[in-house]
Amino acid sequence: MELNLKRKDWNIMCAHVQAQSPLEACGLLAGKNNWVEKVLLIENQARSQVRFRMNPKEQLDAFHWIESNQLDLIGIFHSHPAGPETVSATDLEEVTYAVPQIVWSRLKGKWIARGFWIEDKQVSEVELKVVDS
Ligand SMILES: [Zn+2]
Repeated sequence: MELNLKRKDWNIMCAHVQAQSPLEACGLLAGKNNWVEKVLLIENQARSQVRFRMNPKEQLDAFHWIESNQLDLIGIFHSHPAGPETVSATDLEEVTYAVPQIVWSRLKGKWIARGFWIEDKQVSEVELKVVDS
C-alpha cells in the first residue's frame, strides 16, 4: 500500500507540526485513489504533547469540504514531537477511520513522516511517495 503526495502538501503538514510542537498536531488528507489533493489542518483540542483529539467542529467542516469537493478521506496525520517514530499504543486504541495513519516525528532534529495501516491492532507500513511538482 502506498500514499502519494506533492512536495507542497508535504511542506504544509511539516510546517504545521513544527508550529504546534511541542504539542501534537493533527489533520486530514483528502484525495482520490491514494493521491493526496488537499491537506486539512485540524486543531488538536486535547492540546497535549502525547495525544490528539480533533476539534469536532473543524473535523465536521473538513468532512463537509471533502464531500462537497467529491474527494475521499484517504489519510489522517498527527505528530509525535517527542517520539515515537511509529504509531503508539494510544494510537492503536484510538484509531477510528480505516485510512492510512501518517505519523510525524523528529529524527536528529528533522521532521520525518511515516505511513501506517492499522487493522485489528496490527500495524503495517504504508509507503509515502513525495512527488516534486
Ligand atoms: Zn500518536
